[in-house]
Amino acid sequence: MAPSFPVAEHVALASLTTLGLGGPARYLATPSTQNELLACLEWGDKHQLERWILGGGSNVVIADEGLPGLVIQWVAKERHVVQETEAFVDVQVEGGHNWDELVAWSVENNLAGVECLSGIPGSVGAAPIQNIGAYGQELCETFVKATVLDLETYTTSEWDAQRCDFGYRHSALKPSAGRRFLVLDVTLRFTRNGEPAVRYGELQRTLEASDKPISLALVRDTVICLRRRKGMVFDPNDPNSRSAGSFFTNPILSLEEVEGVRERLADVLAEGLSMPVYPVGEGQQKLAAAWLIERAGLTKGTRWGNVGISDVHALALVNRGGGTTQELLSAAKQIQKQVQERTGVLLQPEPVFLAKRSVSLDDFS
Ligand SMILES: Cc1cc2nc3c(=O)[nH]c(=O)nc-3n(C[C@H](O)[C@H](O)[C@H](O)COP(=O)(O)OP(=O)(O)OC[C@H]3O[C@@H](n4cnc5c(N)ncnc54)[C@H](O)[C@@H]3O)c2cc1C
Repeated sequence: MAPSFPVAEHVALASLTTLGLGGPARYLATPSTQNELLACLEWGDKHQLERWILGGGSNVVIADEGLPGLVIQWVAKERHVVQETEAFVDVQVEGGHNWDELVAWSVENNLAGVECLSGIPGSVGAAPIQNIGAYGQELCETFVKATVLDLETYTTSEWDAQRCDFGYRHSALKPSAGRRFLVLDVTLRFTRNGEPAVRYGELQRTLEASDKPISLALVRDTVICLRRRKGMVFDPNDPNSRSAGSFFTNPILSLEEVEGVRERLADVLAEGLSMPVYPVGEGQQKLAAAWLIERAGLTKGTRWGNVGISDVHALALVNRGGGTTQELLSAAKQIQKQVQERTGVLLQPEPVFLAKRSVSLDDFS
């Protein structure tokens, strides 16, 4: 009997990712209702298939050998206003909804809260996984709750912000990302007629330089324009955007560790270069991974075979065409090693590795 949910066999996954890398899925299921999703999970159990979750493929690195089981792409896209007052509007959005389309809709409706997250590729369901953030704003600021299906117990529960334990590019969902918890929908609280969040220096300066009155729409357009210059808007015609966005997170270090980095870089700092440092609470500071990479002698445009550092952003690793995941991860390991040798900082990868076995950069030399 044919399965009662959409499923295809031997599907090339590379074309479903922004990096354009990774082997095939044995099966790719695309359920759009909870009945289809449950049927898909039961079918997977019956055939003893391992499972992986895929969204828009913009923050995953998929193994060259592919995923020899069932890849589930939850494609439900409904959006509903569930509560509104004069001050705010709560909107529940299914996980398969495109993230940037949600941002565009909120801005058109004069709802503030995610305008600086304009232009981030991917789905709403993946947004809480790493608490997406950009230009001084993070998802957790508008997040109310997510409905999460546990693929081990088949139970559904509501995760509020506290349970999600959001941090910088982190949530409680991230350690098991891709395997255990499927985000069915997310509820966000937007501020009606709210002021745009203009906190990030580069955004602030660009807005000040324009004579236009600052509005949500202007902030959205400006953010997209700034992102585009750095290859941070996914566009098949822009080879520098064939990436997973930032490949490493910005390291958060203790004040003593930051001092250690300063000592190691005393030569360049003595030449008048200043190290970008951002306060992140008591006794800790965040450094800019892109700056550290460049100090380690890895300039924009550096290449290793068919992969390399973007020409316009030192933090993005790009598939130049014909690359492999093996090449990409070897390059990432090389960057990690060189940065550690020069600065003492061990950069941590941001994307999620989807593979049959667990993968870390230590597997690559
Ligand atoms: C050009 C470019 C720019 C980027 N800029 C930014 C940025 O500014 N800020 C930022 O934070 N990120 C950025 N990213 C990373 C990425 O866009 C985000 O992390 C995005 O949320 C990933 O969404 P996705 O649907 O593509 O997820 P995928 O890449 O498909 O998956 C990411 C992880 O989420 C899991 N997942 C996907 N959907 C679900 C679901 N419904 N339920 C549970 N788990 C799920 C996957 O298993 C995987 O572990 C950028 C990426 C690119 C390519």
